[in-house]
Amino acid sequence: MKSIFAAFAALAAVACHAAAETAAYDVIVAGGGPAGIGAGYMAAKRGAKTLVLEKSGRLGGMGVSALVSPFSVATASPVVNHIAGRIGFSHSVDFHMADVRAFDLLKETGADVMLHADVIGPVMDGNRVTGLKVNCAEGVREFKAKVVIDATGNGAVAAAAGVPYDEGRAGDGLVQPMSIMFTVGGFDPKRRFLCYSEEDARSKRCIVAGRTWENIVQEEIAAGRLPPEVGVIRLYPGKTKDLAVVNATQVNGLFGSRSADLTKAEIATRKQAAQIVEVMRRHLPGYKNVRISDMPAVVGVRETRRFEGVDRLTTEDVLSGRRREDAVARKCSFVMDIHNPAGAGQAHGHEKAVTGGARRVKPYDIPYGALVPKKIDGLLFCGRCISATHEALASCRVMGNAMATGVGAGAAAAEAVKKGIDVRAVDAKSLHLFD
Ligand SMILES: Cc1cc2nc3c(=O)[nH]c(=O)nc-3n(C[C@H](O)[C@H](O)[C@H](O)COP(=O)(O)OP(=O)(O)OC[C@H]3O[C@@H](n4cnc5c(N)ncnc54)[C@H](O)[C@@H]3O)c2cc1C
Repeated sequence: MKSIFAAFAALAAVACHAAAETAAYDVIVAGGGPAGIGAGYMAAKRGAKTLVLEKSGRLGGMGVSALVSPFSVATASPVVNHIAGRIGFSHSVDFHMADVRAFDLLKETGADVMLHADVIGPVMDGNRVTGLKVNCAEGVREFKAKVVIDATGNGAVAAAAGVPYDEGRAGDGLVQPMSIMFTVGGFDPKRRFLCYSEEDARSKRCIVAGRTWENIVQEEIAAGRLPPEVGVIRLYPGKTKDLAVVNATQVNGLFGSRSADLTKAEIATRKQAAQIVEVMRRHLPGYKNVRISDMPAVVGVRETRRFEGVDRLTTEDVLSGRRREDAVARKCSFVMDIHNPAGAGQAHGHEKAVTGGARRVKPYDIPYGALVPKKIDGLLFCGRCISATHEALASCRVMGNAMATGVGAGAAAAEAVKKGIDVRAVDAKSLHLFD
Protein backbone atom coordinates (compact mmCIF):
# COMPACT_ATOMS: atom_id res chain seq x y z
CA MET A 1 0.00 0.00 0.00
CA LYS A 2 2.80 2.32 0.92
CA SER A 3 4.23 2.21 -2.59
CA ILE A 4 0.81 3.09 -4.14
CA PHE A 5 0.55 6.20 -1.92
CA ALA A 6 4.09 7.12 -2.92
CA ALA A 7 3.13 6.80 -6.59
CA PHE A 8 0.09 9.09 -6.13
CA ALA A 9 2.23 11.65 -4.29
CA ALA A 10 4.74 11.59 -7.16
CA LEU A 11 1.95 12.10 -9.73
CA ALA A 12 0.56 15.05 -7.75
CA ALA A 13 4.04 16.56 -7.68
CA VAL A 14 4.29 16.29 -11.49
CA ALA A 15 0.87 17.96 -11.87
CA CYS A 16 1.90 20.91 -9.64
CA HIS A 17 5.18 21.21 -11.46
CA ALA A 18 3.25 21.33 -14.76
CA ALA A 19 0.91 24.11 -13.57
CA ALA A 20 3.85 26.15 -12.32
CA GLU A 21 5.59 25.93 -15.68
CA THR A 22 2.72 27.02 -17.93
CA ALA A 23 4.17 29.24 -20.68
CA ALA A 24 2.26 31.48 -23.11
CA TYR A 25 2.90 31.97 -26.83
CA ASP A 26 1.09 33.64 -29.72
CA VAL A 27 1.52 30.60 -31.95
CA ILE A 28 2.51 27.04 -31.11
CA VAL A 29 3.31 24.59 -33.88
CA ALA A 30 2.96 20.91 -32.98
CA GLY A 31 5.37 18.86 -35.12
CA GLY A 32 8.67 19.85 -36.74
CA GLY A 33 8.45 18.16 -40.16
CA PRO A 34 8.46 20.06 -43.49
CA ALA A 35 5.04 21.57 -42.69
CA GLY A 36 5.98 22.47 -39.10
CA ILE A 37 9.27 24.06 -40.15
CA GLY A 38 7.38 26.16 -42.74
CA ALA A 39 4.74 27.14 -40.16
CA GLY A 40 7.22 28.01 -37.40
CA TYR A 41 9.42 30.00 -39.75
CA MET A 42 6.57 32.05 -41.20
CA ALA A 43 4.74 32.71 -37.91
CA ALA A 44 7.98 34.00 -36.34
CA LYS A 45 8.95 35.93 -39.49
CA ARG A 46 5.59 37.74 -39.35
CA GLY A 47 6.19 38.80 -35.74
CA ALA A 48 4.38 36.17 -33.64
CA LYS A 49 5.97 34.80 -30.46
CA THR A 50 6.31 31.24 -31.71
CA LEU A 51 7.19 27.81 -30.31
CA VAL A 52 7.77 24.65 -32.36
CA LEU A 53 7.33 21.36 -30.47
CA GLU A 54 8.78 18.14 -31.89
CA LYS A 55 8.44 14.72 -30.27
CA SER A 56 11.61 13.20 -31.70
CA GLY A 57 15.18 14.42 -31.33
CA ARG A 58 15.30 15.80 -34.88
CA LEU A 59 13.45 18.34 -37.01
CA GLY A 60 12.61 17.44 -40.62
CA GLY A 61 9.85 14.85 -40.23
CA MET A 62 9.77 12.08 -42.82
CA GLY A 63 12.57 13.80 -44.78
CA VAL A 64 15.06 13.30 -41.94
CA SER A 65 13.69 10.55 -39.68
CA ALA A 66 12.36 8.27 -42.44
CA LEU A 67 15.17 9.13 -44.93
CA VAL A 68 12.68 10.29 -47.58
CA SER A 69 15.37 11.63 -49.82
CA PRO A 70 13.67 13.34 -52.81
CA PHE A 71 12.34 16.77 -51.79
CA SER A 72 9.67 17.43 -54.42
CA VAL A 73 9.25 21.18 -54.79
CA ALA A 74 6.23 20.90 -57.03
CA THR A 75 4.81 24.29 -56.10
CA ALA A 76 5.64 27.92 -56.86
CA SER A 77 6.70 29.44 -53.53
CA PRO A 78 9.67 31.76 -52.96
CA VAL A 79 9.44 31.15 -49.18
CA VAL A 80 9.59 27.36 -49.61
CA ASN A 81 12.55 27.73 -51.96
CA HIS A 82 14.29 29.93 -49.40
CA ILE A 83 13.72 27.56 -46.46
CA ALA A 84 14.61 24.46 -48.50
CA GLY A 85 17.81 26.10 -49.74
CA ARG A 86 18.83 27.17 -46.24
CA ILE A 87 18.28 23.80 -44.55
CA GLY A 88 19.52 21.41 -47.24
CA PHE A 89 16.16 20.16 -48.52
CA SER A 90 16.93 21.11 -52.12
CA HIS A 91 16.14 18.22 -54.50
CA SER A 92 17.55 15.57 -52.20
CA VAL A 93 17.43 15.92 -48.43
CA ASP A 94 20.70 16.24 -46.54
CA PHE A 95 19.35 14.01 -43.78
CA HIS A 96 22.56 14.15 -41.77
CA MET A 97 22.47 17.93 -41.15
CA ALA A 98 19.11 19.34 -42.35
CA ASP A 99 17.63 19.16 -38.84
CA VAL A 100 20.46 21.20 -37.35
CA ARG A 101 20.15 23.81 -40.10
CA ALA A 102 16.38 23.94 -39.61
CA PHE A 103 16.90 24.48 -35.89
CA ASP A 104 19.33 27.34 -36.56
CA LEU A 105 17.01 28.93 -39.13
CA LEU A 106 14.02 28.83 -36.76
CA LYS A 107 16.06 30.29 -33.91
CA GLU A 108 17.48 33.00 -36.19
CA THR A 109 13.93 33.90 -37.25
CA GLY A 110 12.92 34.24 -33.60
CA ALA A 111 11.03 30.99 -32.94
CA ASP A 112 11.65 28.82 -29.88
CA VAL A 113 12.11 25.12 -30.57
CA MET A 114 11.69 22.26 -28.13
CA LEU A 115 12.69 18.71 -29.10
CA HIS A 116 11.66 15.60 -27.15
CA ALA A 117 8.34 17.34 -26.57
CA ASP A 118 5.51 14.94 -27.35
CA VAL A 119 2.18 16.75 -27.70
CA ILE A 120 -0.45 14.71 -25.84
CA GLY A 121 -3.43 16.82 -26.80
CA PRO A 122 -5.08 20.23 -26.79
CA VAL A 123 -6.18 22.36 -23.86
CA MET A 124 -9.75 23.37 -24.71
CA ASP A 125 -12.11 26.12 -23.65
CA GLY A 126 -15.41 24.97 -25.14
CA ASN A 127 -14.86 24.73 -28.89
CA ARG A 128 -11.61 26.69 -28.80
CA VAL A 129 -8.08 25.29 -28.56
CA THR A 130 -6.21 27.47 -26.06
CA GLY A 131 -2.99 25.51 -25.64
CA LEU A 132 -1.31 22.12 -25.59
CA LYS A 133 -0.48 19.45 -23.04
CA VAL A 134 3.00 18.23 -23.72
CA ASN A 135 4.95 15.26 -22.40
CA CYS A 136 8.42 16.70 -21.86
CA ALA A 137 11.43 14.88 -20.46
CA GLU A 138 10.74 16.48 -17.07
CA GLY A 139 7.02 15.56 -17.03
CA VAL A 140 3.73 16.88 -18.39
CA ARG A 141 3.70 20.64 -19.10
CA GLU A 142 1.03 22.93 -20.39
CA PHE A 143 1.66 25.67 -22.97
CA LYS A 144 -0.90 28.39 -23.74
CA ALA A 145 -1.29 29.76 -27.27
CA LYS A 146 -3.55 32.16 -29.15
CA VAL A 147 -3.30 29.87 -32.18
CA VAL A 148 -2.20 26.23 -32.40
CA ILE A 149 -1.00 24.77 -35.70
CA ASP A 150 -1.21 21.00 -36.04
CA ALA A 151 1.76 19.91 -38.18
CA THR A 152 2.06 16.43 -36.65
CA GLY A 153 1.38 14.63 -39.94
CA ASN A 154 -1.18 12.37 -38.30
CA GLY A 155 -3.16 15.31 -36.90
CA ALA A 156 -2.67 14.36 -33.24
CA VAL A 157 -4.04 17.69 -31.98
CA ALA A 158 -6.97 18.07 -34.38
CA ALA A 159 -8.12 14.48 -33.73
CA ALA A 160 -8.02 14.95 -29.96
CA ALA A 161 -9.81 18.32 -30.30
CA GLY A 162 -12.69 16.53 -32.03
CA VAL A 163 -12.28 17.72 -35.63
CA PRO A 164 -14.00 15.10 -37.82
CA TYR A 165 -11.74 13.24 -40.23
CA ASP A 166 -11.62 10.50 -42.88
CA GLU A 167 -8.98 7.83 -43.06
CA GLY A 168 -8.44 5.64 -46.10
CA ARG A 169 -10.02 5.49 -49.52
CA ALA A 170 -13.72 5.15 -50.25
CA GLY A 171 -14.93 1.55 -50.35
CA ASP A 172 -12.44 -0.46 -48.29
CA GLY A 173 -10.95 2.31 -46.07
CA LEU A 174 -7.37 1.30 -46.88
CA VAL A 175 -4.54 3.86 -46.82
CA GLN A 176 -1.37 4.06 -48.90
CA PRO A 177 1.29 1.63 -47.65
CA MET A 178 3.98 2.53 -45.13
CA SER A 179 7.57 2.11 -46.36
CA ILE A 180 11.12 2.72 -45.32
CA MET A 181 13.80 4.20 -47.50
CA PHE A 182 17.41 3.31 -46.70
CA THR A 183 20.80 4.04 -48.22
CA VAL A 184 23.32 1.51 -49.49
CA GLY A 185 27.08 1.77 -50.00
CA GLY A 186 29.96 -0.64 -50.57
CA PHE A 187 29.23 -1.09 -54.30
CA ASP A 188 31.53 -0.06 -57.15
CA PRO A 189 30.68 3.67 -57.64
CA LYS A 190 31.56 3.43 -61.35
CA ARG A 191 28.80 0.87 -61.73
CA ARG A 192 26.12 2.54 -59.61
CA PHE A 193 22.74 1.26 -60.81
CA LEU A 194 19.78 3.68 -60.78
CA CYS A 195 16.10 2.95 -61.35
CA TYR A 196 13.58 5.74 -60.71
CA SER A 197 10.21 4.12 -61.31
CA GLU A 198 8.11 1.16 -62.43
CA GLU A 199 8.44 2.37 -66.03
CA ASP A 200 12.17 2.68 -65.69
CA ALA A 201 12.44 -0.87 -64.31
CA ARG A 202 11.01 -2.27 -67.53
CA SER A 203 12.94 0.06 -69.87
CA LYS A 204 16.18 -0.47 -71.82
CA ARG A 205 18.02 1.73 -69.33
CA CYS A 206 17.59 -0.89 -66.63
CA ILE A 207 18.82 -4.03 -68.41
CA VAL A 208 20.98 -6.27 -66.22
CA ALA A 209 22.72 -9.27 -67.87
CA GLY A 210 20.18 -9.22 -70.71
CA ARG A 211 17.04 -8.96 -68.57
CA THR A 212 15.04 -6.01 -67.34
CA TRP A 213 15.31 -5.11 -63.65
CA GLU A 214 11.56 -5.66 -63.44
CA ASN A 215 11.96 -9.28 -64.67
CA ILE A 216 14.69 -9.96 -62.16
CA VAL A 217 12.66 -8.59 -59.26
CA GLN A 218 9.56 -10.54 -60.39
CA GLU A 219 11.61 -13.77 -60.53
CA GLU A 220 12.85 -13.15 -56.99
CA ILE A 221 9.25 -12.66 -55.86
CA ALA A 222 8.16 -15.87 -57.63
CA ALA A 223 11.02 -17.73 -55.88
CA GLY A 224 9.77 -16.47 -52.50
CA ARG A 225 12.90 -14.43 -51.80
CA LEU A 226 10.99 -11.13 -51.84
CA PRO A 227 7.41 -10.40 -50.72
CA PRO A 228 5.02 -9.64 -53.63
CA GLU A 229 4.20 -6.13 -52.39
CA VAL A 230 7.80 -5.01 -53.07
CA GLY A 231 6.98 -4.98 -56.80
CA VAL A 232 9.82 -2.74 -57.91
CA ILE A 233 13.21 -1.88 -56.39
CA ARG A 234 13.87 1.80 -57.03
CA LEU A 235 17.39 3.16 -56.53
CA TYR A 236 17.95 6.94 -56.45
CA PRO A 237 21.32 8.71 -56.40
CA GLY A 238 22.73 9.34 -52.92
CA LYS A 239 24.47 12.57 -51.91
CA THR A 240 27.78 11.13 -53.16
CA LYS A 241 28.54 8.70 -56.00
CA ASP A 242 29.30 5.84 -53.64
CA LEU A 243 25.78 5.89 -52.16
CA ALA A 244 22.30 5.09 -53.44
CA VAL A 245 18.91 5.52 -51.79
CA VAL A 246 16.60 2.52 -51.97
CA ASN A 247 12.82 2.98 -52.19
CA ALA A 248 11.25 -0.46 -52.40
CA THR A 249 9.80 -1.73 -49.14
CA GLN A 250 6.12 -1.53 -48.29
CA VAL A 251 3.45 -2.99 -46.05
CA ASN A 252 -0.25 -3.04 -46.85
CA GLY A 253 -3.34 -3.00 -44.66
CA LEU A 254 -1.68 -1.22 -41.72
CA PHE A 255 -2.42 2.27 -40.32
CA GLY A 256 0.23 4.83 -39.36
CA SER A 257 -2.16 6.23 -36.75
CA ARG A 258 -2.05 3.03 -34.63
CA SER A 259 0.95 1.96 -32.55
CA ALA A 260 0.36 -1.79 -33.00
CA ASP A 261 0.32 -1.36 -36.79
CA LEU A 262 3.38 0.91 -36.70
CA THR A 263 5.22 -1.78 -34.74
CA LYS A 264 4.43 -4.42 -37.37
CA ALA A 265 5.44 -2.00 -40.14
CA GLU A 266 8.78 -1.08 -38.52
CA ILE A 267 9.83 -4.74 -38.25
CA ALA A 268 8.44 -5.96 -41.59
CA THR A 269 10.02 -3.16 -43.67
CA ARG A 270 13.45 -3.64 -42.07
CA LYS A 271 13.31 -7.38 -42.83
CA GLN A 272 12.41 -6.49 -46.42
CA ALA A 273 15.44 -4.16 -46.57
CA ALA A 274 17.75 -7.09 -45.75
CA GLN A 275 16.09 -9.22 -48.47
CA ILE A 276 16.43 -6.40 -51.02
CA VAL A 277 20.13 -6.05 -50.32
CA GLU A 278 20.54 -9.80 -50.94
CA VAL A 279 18.83 -9.41 -54.35
CA MET A 280 21.24 -6.60 -55.28
CA ARG A 281 24.22 -8.73 -54.22
CA ARG A 282 23.00 -11.62 -56.36
CA HIS A 283 22.23 -9.68 -59.52
CA LEU A 284 23.85 -6.27 -59.87
CA PRO A 285 27.40 -6.11 -61.27
CA GLY A 286 29.74 -4.40 -58.79
CA TYR A 287 27.30 -4.99 -55.89
CA LYS A 288 28.88 -8.11 -54.32
CA ASN A 289 29.80 -6.12 -51.20
CA VAL A 290 26.79 -3.81 -51.07
CA ARG A 291 25.55 -3.06 -47.54
CA ILE A 292 23.03 -0.87 -45.76
CA SER A 293 24.71 2.37 -44.72
CA ASP A 294 21.77 4.37 -43.26
CA MET A 295 18.62 2.93 -41.74
CA PRO A 296 15.78 5.38 -40.91
CA ALA A 297 14.79 6.06 -37.31
CA VAL A 298 11.10 5.53 -38.07
CA VAL A 299 8.98 3.88 -40.74
CA GLY A 300 7.70 6.29 -43.40
CA VAL A 301 3.99 7.10 -43.28
CA ARG A 302 2.35 8.40 -46.45
CA GLU A 303 -1.25 8.84 -45.38
CA THR A 304 -3.39 8.78 -42.23
CA ARG A 305 -6.11 11.24 -41.17
CA ARG A 306 -7.58 13.79 -43.58
CA PHE A 307 -9.52 16.40 -41.61
CA GLU A 308 -12.76 18.13 -42.47
CA GLY A 309 -11.99 21.75 -43.30
CA VAL A 310 -14.22 24.65 -44.26
CA ASP A 311 -12.96 23.88 -47.80
CA ARG A 312 -11.54 20.71 -49.33
CA LEU A 313 -9.02 19.91 -52.05
CA THR A 314 -10.90 17.48 -54.30
CA THR A 315 -9.81 14.90 -56.87
CA GLU A 316 -11.49 17.01 -59.57
CA ASP A 317 -9.58 20.15 -58.42
CA VAL A 318 -6.29 18.31 -58.86
CA LEU A 319 -7.11 16.79 -62.24
CA SER A 320 -8.65 19.97 -63.70
CA GLY A 321 -6.01 22.39 -62.34
CA ARG A 322 -8.42 24.50 -60.24
CA ARG A 323 -6.97 27.86 -59.22
CA ARG A 324 -8.00 29.58 -55.97
CA GLU A 325 -8.15 33.19 -54.83
CA ASP A 326 -7.24 32.12 -51.27
CA ALA A 327 -4.33 29.91 -52.39
CA VAL A 328 -1.69 28.97 -49.79
CA ALA A 329 0.16 26.82 -52.35
CA ARG A 330 0.14 27.67 -56.04
CA LYS A 331 0.64 25.60 -59.18
CA CYS A 332 1.13 22.28 -57.40
CA SER A 333 2.12 19.78 -60.05
CA PHE A 334 3.24 16.54 -58.40
CA VAL A 335 1.58 13.46 -59.95
CA MET A 336 -1.30 11.65 -58.27
CA ASP A 337 1.03 9.07 -56.78
CA ILE A 338 -1.25 6.46 -55.16
CA HIS A 339 0.97 3.63 -53.94
CA ASN A 340 -1.35 0.65 -54.02
CA PRO A 341 -3.10 0.27 -50.64
CA ALA A 342 -3.82 -3.40 -51.47
CA GLY A 343 -0.71 -4.69 -53.23
CA ALA A 344 2.29 -3.72 -55.33
CA GLY A 345 2.63 -0.78 -57.75
CA GLN A 346 0.08 1.98 -58.28
CA ALA A 347 -3.52 1.72 -57.15
CA HIS A 348 -5.84 0.03 -59.61
CA GLY A 349 -7.08 2.50 -62.22
CA HIS A 350 -4.07 4.76 -61.90
CA GLU A 351 -1.36 2.60 -63.42
CA LYS A 352 -1.78 3.60 -67.07
CA ALA A 353 -2.08 7.39 -67.38
CA VAL A 354 1.53 7.46 -66.53
CA THR A 355 4.55 9.31 -65.37
CA GLY A 356 6.51 6.67 -63.49
CA GLY A 357 3.23 4.80 -63.02
CA ALA A 358 1.22 7.66 -61.52
CA ARG A 359 -1.48 9.86 -63.00
CA ARG A 360 -0.64 13.39 -64.16
CA VAL A 361 -2.37 16.43 -62.65
CA LYS A 362 -2.86 19.97 -63.99
CA PRO A 363 -1.10 22.59 -61.85
CA TYR A 364 -3.63 23.42 -59.10
CA ASP A 365 -3.82 25.56 -55.96
CA ILE A 366 -4.39 24.50 -52.34
CA PRO A 367 -7.01 26.78 -50.70
CA TYR A 368 -6.58 28.26 -47.22
CA GLY A 369 -9.94 26.74 -46.27
CA ALA A 370 -8.35 23.26 -46.47
CA LEU A 371 -6.26 24.21 -43.39
CA VAL A 372 -9.17 25.58 -41.32
CA PRO A 373 -11.24 23.10 -39.26
CA LYS A 374 -14.99 23.28 -39.72
CA LYS A 375 -15.92 23.26 -36.03
CA ILE A 376 -12.99 24.07 -33.77
CA ASP A 377 -11.53 27.59 -33.25
CA GLY A 378 -7.94 28.63 -32.54
CA LEU A 379 -6.59 25.75 -34.65
CA LEU A 380 -5.14 25.22 -38.14
CA PHE A 381 -3.73 22.07 -39.71
CA CYS A 382 -1.11 21.74 -42.44
CA GLY A 383 1.01 19.14 -44.24
CA ARG A 384 -0.24 15.67 -44.98
CA CYS A 385 -3.40 15.85 -42.84
CA ILE A 386 -5.15 18.79 -44.56
CA SER A 387 -8.70 18.61 -45.84
CA ALA A 388 -8.33 16.64 -49.09
CA THR A 389 -9.68 13.53 -50.75
CA HIS A 390 -7.59 10.33 -50.71
CA GLU A 391 -6.69 10.90 -54.39
CA ALA A 392 -5.92 14.63 -54.02
CA LEU A 393 -3.70 13.92 -51.00
CA ALA A 394 -1.70 11.49 -53.16
CA SER A 395 -0.49 14.55 -55.07
CA CYS A 396 -0.42 17.34 -52.45
CA ARG A 397 1.33 15.30 -49.70
CA VAL A 398 4.88 15.78 -51.05
CA MET A 399 7.30 17.77 -48.91
CA GLY A 400 7.40 21.01 -50.95
CA ASN A 401 3.61 21.25 -50.85
CA ALA A 402 3.50 20.25 -47.17
CA MET A 403 5.97 23.03 -46.40
CA ALA A 404 3.92 25.52 -48.46
CA THR A 405 0.77 24.73 -46.46
CA GLY A 406 2.83 25.22 -43.29
CA VAL A 407 4.04 28.60 -44.55
CA GLY A 408 0.41 29.57 -45.26
CA ALA A 409 -0.73 28.41 -41.81
CA GLY A 410 2.11 30.31 -40.09
CA ALA A 411 1.33 33.53 -41.96
CA ALA A 412 -2.42 33.22 -41.22
CA ALA A 413 -1.80 32.51 -37.53
CA ALA A 414 0.45 35.58 -37.18
CA GLU A 415 -2.16 37.70 -38.98
CA ALA A 416 -4.92 36.46 -36.65
CA VAL A 417 -2.80 37.31 -33.60
CA LYS A 418 -1.94 40.77 -34.96
CA LYS A 419 -5.58 41.62 -35.68
CA GLY A 420 -7.00 39.87 -32.61
CA ILE A 421 -9.33 37.71 -34.73
CA ASP A 422 -9.84 33.97 -35.10
CA VAL A 423 -7.90 32.18 -37.82
CA ARG A 424 -11.14 31.39 -39.64
CA ALA A 425 -11.70 35.15 -40.15
CA VAL A 426 -8.31 35.69 -41.83
CA ASP A 427 -8.50 36.85 -45.45
CA ALA A 428 -5.91 34.62 -47.12
CA LYS A 429 -5.77 36.91 -50.17
CA SER A 430 -4.07 39.53 -48.02
CA LEU A 431 -1.26 37.25 -46.77
CA HIS A 432 1.18 38.05 -49.64
CA LEU A 433 2.65 34.56 -49.62
CA PHE A 434 4.06 34.72 -53.13
CA ASP A 435 5.67 38.20 -53.29
C1 LIG B 1 8.22 6.20 -48.28
C2 LIG B 1 7.84 7.60 -48.59
C3 LIG B 1 8.24 8.18 -49.80
C4 LIG B 1 7.95 9.51 -50.06
N1 LIG B 1 8.43 10.08 -51.21
C5 LIG B 1 8.39 11.43 -51.35
C6 LIG B 1 9.07 12.09 -52.43
O1 LIG B 1 9.64 11.45 -53.31
N2 LIG B 1 9.06 13.45 -52.45
C7 LIG B 1 8.44 14.19 -51.48
O2 LIG B 1 8.54 15.43 -51.50
N3 LIG B 1 7.73 13.61 -50.50
C8 LIG B 1 7.69 12.24 -50.41
N4 LIG B 1 6.99 11.63 -49.40
C9 LIG B 1 5.98 12.39 -48.64
C10 LIG B 1 6.52 13.26 -47.54
O3 LIG B 1 7.65 12.70 -46.91
C11 LIG B 1 5.46 13.56 -46.47
O4 LIG B 1 4.17 13.64 -47.01
C12 LIG B 1 5.83 14.87 -45.80
O5 LIG B 1 7.00 14.66 -45.04
C13 LIG B 1 4.71 15.39 -44.91
O6 LIG B 1 5.18 16.47 -44.13
P1 LIG B 1 4.51 16.82 -42.72
O7 LIG B 1 5.35 17.88 -42.13
O8 LIG B 1 3.07 17.04 -42.93
O9 LIG B 1 4.60 15.46 -41.86
P2 LIG B 1 5.85 14.64 -41.34
O10 LIG B 1 6.97 14.69 -42.31
O11 LIG B 1 5.31 13.31 -40.97
O12 LIG B 1 6.30 15.41 -40.01
C14 LIG B 1 5.52 15.40 -38.84
C15 LIG B 1 6.41 15.73 -37.66
O13 LIG B 1 5.61 15.85 -36.48
C16 LIG B 1 6.20 15.14 -35.41
N5 LIG B 1 5.13 14.71 -34.51
C17 LIG B 1 4.18 13.77 -34.74
N6 LIG B 1 3.37 13.65 -33.67
C18 LIG B 1 3.80 14.55 -32.77
C19 LIG B 1 3.37 14.89 -31.46
N7 LIG B 1 2.32 14.29 -30.88
N8 LIG B 1 4.05 15.85 -30.78
C20 LIG B 1 5.13 16.48 -31.34
N9 LIG B 1 5.59 16.17 -32.59
C21 LIG B 1 4.93 15.22 -33.29
C22 LIG B 1 6.90 13.97 -36.10
O14 LIG B 1 7.92 13.44 -35.27
C23 LIG B 1 7.44 14.65 -37.35
O15 LIG B 1 8.70 15.24 -37.14
C24 LIG B 1 7.21 10.27 -49.14
C25 LIG B 1 6.78 9.69 -47.93
C26 LIG B 1 7.08 8.37 -47.66
C27 LIG B 1 6.64 7.78 -46.36
